[in-house]
Amino acid sequence: MKTINLRTAAANPLTRFLCMVVVFFFLVGDAATHADLSKLAVLEQRIQSASAHPDFPDDVYGLIVINQALTSLKAGSGGIGACLVNSRTGQVIETGRNRQHAPHFRSDLHGEMDLLNRYEDRAQKTRDKTTNPRECRDLVLVSSMEPCPMCLTRIINSGIKTMIYVAEDPDGGMVSRMDQLPPFWQAFAADREYRKAKCSPDIEQLAMDLFNYSNRSFARNRKNQKNKIKP
Ligand SMILES: [Zn+2]
Repeated sequence: MKTINLRTAAANPLTRFLCMVVVFFFLVGDAATHADLSKLAVLEQRIQSASAHPDFPDDVYGLIVINQALTSLKAGSGGIGACLVNSRTGQVIETGRNRQHAPHFRSDLHGEMDLLNRYEDRAQKTRDKTTNPRECRDLVLVSSMEPCPMCLTRIINSGIKTMIYVAEDPDGGMVSRMDQLPPFWQAFAADREYRKAKCSPDIEQLAMDLFNYSNRSFARNRKNQKNKIKP
């Protein structure tokens, strides 16, 4: 049986080089993990010291959805949160958050989708001659970010007539592009009010930072991919 002499192996320049590479990547990876954790801790501290400003009526709901977004990041998913409010009473009747990556990958579980799944599963509305399952009178959906095309069409289909979002998403948001929806969906959404929430700049910035925290690696990979493509 062949035996390995450790002293000879350690003296081998190739072995030493490989060991240095392994140690380097271990240290860099560890440092990156610590940097990520400390950035999340800073975000959490900023959220804890944020408060609703009397000049911004939607701050109280903005705080709820950014806390949901933080919970989502801590659980390993994307930094987006949402809630459903009864506008007559001001009561939050449901909360939701992105669950796309944990406990396992689910491409449909954006924050708004999770919220509506929870609400509709609990409400269990059925359709008959007198009731309409899309009757969502007084309900306002609040999201920390402008909904994507998938979530926007789901929200339209749910029957919810009022939806507000804390921060705009110029790259992926669909509310600012409602005029590009297919004609059926535009007509379906004709009586809806979907708009940016009236939140203070601090809370809006937090919503964006939470979103960008989870999107950072995806955006970086996409940029690297673009750089690789030769014209
Ligand atoms: Zn979405």
